[in-house]
Amino acid sequence: MSVLHRLCILGSTGSIGVSTLDVVGRHPDRLSVYALTAHTRIEALAAQAATHHARVVVVPDDAARARFMAAWPSGQVLPEIRQGAQALADTAADPEVTAVMAAIVGAAGLPGALAAARAGKRVLLANKEALVAAGALFMGAVRTHGAQLLPIDSEHNAIFQCLPQTPDRSFAPAEPAPGVRRLLLTASGGPFRCTALSQLEHVTPDEACAHPNWRMGRKISVDSATMLNKGLEVIEAHWLFSMPVDRIQVVVHPQSVVHSMVEYDDGSVLAQLGQPDMRTPIAFGLGFPDRIHSGVGLLELTRLGHLDFEAPDLVRFPCLRLSLNALKQGQGACITLNAANEVAVEGFLNGRLRYTQIPAIIEQCLEDSAAGASTTPESLDEVLEIDSRTRRMAAQLCRQAA
Ligand code: NAD
Ligand code: MG
Repeated sequence: MSVLHRLCILGSTGSIGVSTLDVVGRHPDRLSVYALTAHTRIEALAAQAATHHARVVVVPDDAARARFMAAWPSGQVLPEIRQGAQALADTAADPEVTAVMAAIVGAAGLPGALAAARAGKRVLLANKEALVAAGALFMGAVRTHGAQLLPIDSEHNAIFQCLPQTPDRSFAPAEPAPGVRRLLLTASGGPFRCTALSQLEHVTPDEACAHPNWRMGRKISVDSATMLNKGLEVIEAHWLFSMPVDRIQVVVHPQSVVHSMVEYDDGSVLAQLGQPDMRTPIAFGLGFPDRIHSGVGLLELTRLGHLDFEAPDLVRFPCLRLSLNALKQGQGACITLNAANEVAVEGFLNGRLRYTQIPAIIEQCLEDSAAGASTTPESLDEVLEIDSRTRRMAAQLCRQAA
């Protein structure tokens, strides 16, 4: 078989990027790497580019370019080195690229993901913040430019797999799939599901990042601990599947084996199960509509013994409540929620804020921006303007709180 996809991996040095390259390396017959990008781990980027024979890399600035050159193995043909945020978006839209893995963390990933959608690529979307910040804009671009949007977030990938597989299925449906009553989004509950509430203000970044089932980047690990991640995922599911918020139910499932479910009008509930390993949804997205090997081991249900389910506790997880409210309020509120969270989580990871101050900062930003909560931005610039305004506000609140 000849190569089916020439890939651009935005954020190749992160947790999702590394898992993507692991799957790609198993299929030299059908997948090749065209471009890789990274923001900080430039030596790791050089090693990846050398191993996978990338033709292009994108780095943030002159210093990163110099580091890349210094780390490049002598004797191998140097890839083209592009530089800066515009080059990153242009590379996602490069005519040589057929599929883009959007795996940058945070709203910083939005311009690249949007450029890929506008160029009509196959877009493997891990970067959920892009949909939270610009759901209408992004889904509109997918529709207008005929992009193939495949959700990589494990829950949304599970739902995508459980929805009706009709030949004319849309990658950006304008209404809920026929016959579907609800989406059941599973959540592990993170490392603090059973921690005494009085202890939460003392938890450390390393404790918050010690997820019981998944190994992920530090920002999403903290989001999983606060369950803000599940809030972002409800918003993500709303946009991906055109589903009203009151038809998306969050179910806590500590084992992370059932990745999510779709409930139909006849009472059937379809679930997708598997090991908690992102290589499964990544392989699904890379191979679609074929099923390809991911390197993920077998699911031994008899060894698991039992699977548990419970309702989420909105007192323990105020970030989930704030997210559901933001989705009901509108796009302006969702941009604020996401940007305030990014700033607060960074403050927590750097030791300047306590864990319990994260929801407090988000809530304050939402209150202070209430006038623009229902705004629907019509351009990327408008989204980025609300995002920057919120970041300034949140940074100020962090300084006061520290
Ligand atoms: P990570 O922190 O491990 O990696 C982030 C990547 O983005 C790195 O390559 C980094 O260099 C790049 N990056 C960071 N800031 C950047 C910037 N300003 N400009 C350009 N590049 C930048 O993150 P991750 O855990 O791989 O998560 C990536 C995305 O995938 C997030 O949106 C996350 O929510 C989503 N996701 C991750 C997982 C997981 O298992 N890790 C699961 C589901 C969804
Ligand atoms: Mg997820």
